Amino acid sequence: MDYEKLGFKCGLEIHQQLDTKKLFCNCQSILRKDEPDFIVRRRLHAVAGESGEVDVAAKHEMGKDKEFVYQGYDTTCLVELDEEPPHEINKDALNIALQISLLLNCRILPLTQIMRKTVIDGSNTSGFQRTVLIAQDGYVETDGGRVGINAVILEEDAARIVSRTPQAYPEKSSTKIFTKGKDEVVYKLDRLGIPLVEIVTAPDIKTPEQAKNVSLKIGEILRSCRVRRGIGTIRQDVSISIEHGKRIEMKGVQDLKLIVPTINNEIERQIDLVKMKKSVAEVRRGNPDATTSFLRPLPGSARMYPETDLPMLKISRDLINKIKKNLPRLRKDIEEELNRKGLNQEMIKLIFKMNKLEEFRELLELVSNPQLVAKVVLMLPKEIASHKKVSFEKIEKILNKDILAFVLEKYKKRKISERQIKESLERIVKGVDVNMAVKFENEDLGNVEEKIMKIIKEKPGLSEKAYMGLVMKEFRGKVDGKIAMEIIKKYIK
Ligand SMILES: [Zn+2]
Repeated sequence: MDYEKLGFKCGLEIHQQLDTKKLFCNCQSILRKDEPDFIVRRRLHAVAGESGEVDVAAKHEMGKDKEFVYQGYDTTCLVELDEEPPHEINKDALNIALQISLLLNCRILPLTQIMRKTVIDGSNTSGFQRTVLIAQDGYVETDGGRVGINAVILEEDAARIVSRTPQAYPEKSSTKIFTKGKDEVVYKLDRLGIPLVEIVTAPDIKTPEQAKNVSLKIGEILRSCRVRRGIGTIRQDVSISIEHGKRIEMKGVQDLKLIVPTINNEIERQIDLVKMKKSVAEVRRGNPDATTSFLRPLPGSARMYPETDLPMLKISRDLINKIKKNLPRLRKDIEEELNRKGLNQEMIKLIFKMNKLEEFRELLELVSNPQLVAKVVLMLPKEIASHKKVSFEKIEKILNKDILAFVLEKYKKRKISERQIKESLERIVKGVDVNMAVKFENEDLGNVEEKIMKIIKEKPGLSEKAYMGLVMKEFRGKVDGKIAMEIIKKYIK
């Protein structure tokens, strides 16, 4: 396809959950699997924006009179229920949003207004979502050229849907259907209020491949900051248009494998629609087979009005400078650093996968042997877990950072050998007291050194191996071979 000739334009909107408490209350951002503690029923109606207009998307929803059912937990409070005003914006979430803004080369707004965005599907108990523009005018560099970042926005996530009657949303038939009662939509309040950073790129993307690259690049920046991980924590919408066509927004196209084929399929569909003069601006949902299906008309702009319960948000120069000084490094840079330290690719991958970078770094301060520390942090707990047939999570809890530090400290002081590190950890998992777990019948090293010196003096001119044999015979396995060899080498030089 000749994308240039087609007048292809594309922009991304990425929503990423942050790993902090909720944005406007002090509740934990935890998704619950258990039964709700309470249920609240509400009936919501679309509210006109300040301009007095109800936009086309709102009208589309209003035609259906629905009842909303909200499932609450002991981890949700009156703010989620819209029965208490929002608290001050969460500072951690704001700081992470500022980091992301700076990594995306954006200009941060010194003074900004928290807004209410009308939401009519009931996924917000208040009928609106709080959202605040944090930064503008940034960019990311990609192989296909620079792509502008129009906005970095901090906002609250919506409640998550549990079930809906078929009448309520006939077009979303893939969701589990609630058959009892009439038009009813059930939501869980656990997700409502989790901080989200929304990144909006400029429509600078020129090919589907570039869209994928921009997505990768922004993903890398996000993951270098404190964000939530796993399915559902990142959502991506792709907007495209071709010449003479209308803007199409495709929701939920975050799977990297699907970005290119989904865009290509939609372009083909648009080419046909443009030929028939039938292209309509709309929101579509990305499907797992790289096709899309209609969701709703594209919302207009009459959806925002100021949040009157909260003051203007001031972002001081001091705060920006402080965050600039402590910007997280990108994974690529950290990988290079670990590589220089002598870790192989497998180890480096594992450090990120197991989320052990911080632990690795801290323990490396203690014992400056990257290979050994990587082994102790990444391999030994796994080995012990599989050997003892206990879950890794359980082993990880027992062999926490402090325990590993304690054992490595003993190694550093030469109280135990490298081989005995694993044995110590195994003993600790078995329930042996930590101080006992690092006690071995080792010869005192001062003693060992003295004896080795004596052996070498008595029989000069032998090979390292020969001395080793003599030493091992002398101590009958009560000394670590590696340490013995180090001492031998020291004295035969
Ligand atoms: Zn709350």
